[in-house]
Amino acid sequence: MSDTQMNITDMYAALGISDNVYRFSKEILDKLQTRFEQIDKNAEYNQLKVLKAMQDNKVSEACLLGTTGYGYNDLGRETLESVYASIFHTQDALVRPQITCGTHALALALLSNLRPGDELLSPVGKPYDTLEEVIGIRPSKGSLAEYGITYRQVDLLEDGSFDYDNITKAVNEKTKMVTIQRSKGYQTRPTLSVERIGELITFIKGIKPDVICMVDNCYGEFVEGIEPTDVGADMAVGSLIKNPGGGLAPIGGYIAGKKECVENAAYRLTSPGLGKEVGASLGILRDFYHGLFLAPTVTAGALKGAVFAANVYEKLGFKVVPDGIQSRHDIIQAVEFGTPEGVIAFCKGIQAAAPVDSFVVPEPWDMPGYDSPVIMAAGAFVSGSSIELSADGPIKPPYAVYFQGGLTSGHAFFGIMKTLQSLVDARIVDI
Ligand SMILES: *Cc1c(COP(=O)(O)O)cnc(C)c1O
Repeated sequence: MSDTQMNITDMYAALGISDNVYRFSKEILDKLQTRFEQIDKNAEYNQLKVLKAMQDNKVSEACLLGTTGYGYNDLGRETLESVYASIFHTQDALVRPQITCGTHALALALLSNLRPGDELLSPVGKPYDTLEEVIGIRPSKGSLAEYGITYRQVDLLEDGSFDYDNITKAVNEKTKMVTIQRSKGYQTRPTLSVERIGELITFIKGIKPDVICMVDNCYGEFVEGIEPTDVGADMAVGSLIKNPGGGLAPIGGYIAGKKECVENAAYRLTSPGLGKEVGASLGILRDFYHGLFLAPTVTAGALKGAVFAANVYEKLGFKVVPDGIQSRHDIIQAVEFGTPEGVIAFCKGIQAAAPVDSFVVPEPWDMPGYDSPVIMAAGAFVSGSSIELSADGPIKPPYAVYFQGGLTSGHAFFGIMKTLQSLVDARIVDI
């Protein structure tokens, strides 16, 4: 046993983790074991859920192969969509490599289910940055606004609760669809639990029963035992290079929901008249199935990393959202450093922990679409994949960094130790 202990500290030392950083981290990790057991219990449940969906839908070896050309009668594609529908308890699902990313999946769900003259309502405040252009909050070619679809927004109240009075006032005869973002994104509001999403949907359907409720489920999949479609959402939408791809999907997005909503999205993705019938899967389905099968444990690993990060930086006196003990509804961890140097040192640590491009040093840069320089750290097998260990932060007050991912808990823990080492070396923190 003592030999193993020695080997592990030597191994950490060989990867640049000093003895004091390791001991500080180990002490925190030891105290989190009960919390980690709860995360494992949830992963165990979701593992069975995914397995049952695969068995019930008779996933076969033939499903792992792909089609070319038009992709008619693609058994693997059709079966995978049934598997997603089983997991989300929906009538149907669209799961495609032709959906290029999360924004595309959300745009597809919106643009296909809304018609000129309709109105979209966000009852949870400003949506994710990239959706501003989809909706037309920031003018853009092809936005909903260009098609004569209007938008209304009701912000959350100061304490993070729903503003039921103003939601009631905002729902009108034009309101066709409601968009609810589960994850906080780059905001400081709390992430919504599935239960709270259910309360909101029940309230809105009480005012207008036929309104379509869509949930942006990005980063939320498998964090809980239920999904938004279990509490009344008509559609759940997300990216396969986040949780449900399990780190193996190299592209893709999904929409799981009511038959009519999914059908509308399919006709928009391909063409009126063609819908779900076309879309060759090429050779990608094996990774979609394999990744989905691993997704519950991969998500659990990322969650443990986020909880560890919260506890490390809370102990060092920084504001962390969520805090060290709060319940989790997505895999994102925010840490407020209050200085650019803190954000930069953290991101350098994440980069140095990567399996790919660990030797690269990230720098803040003026990214298109952002109003301040942004620093990003990622050394991923799938470019831009944020279920893999990654972090980013805008260089502006309150100088917060957003951390997520880690395909295994071991890698996520190591990544956080590397950030701490980086902050200690830069003399930003003292342990
Ligand atoms: C990541 C994300 C998106 C957009 O996904 P992309 O794949 O980056 O286009 C939308 N909403 C939320 C909450 C997200 O986290």
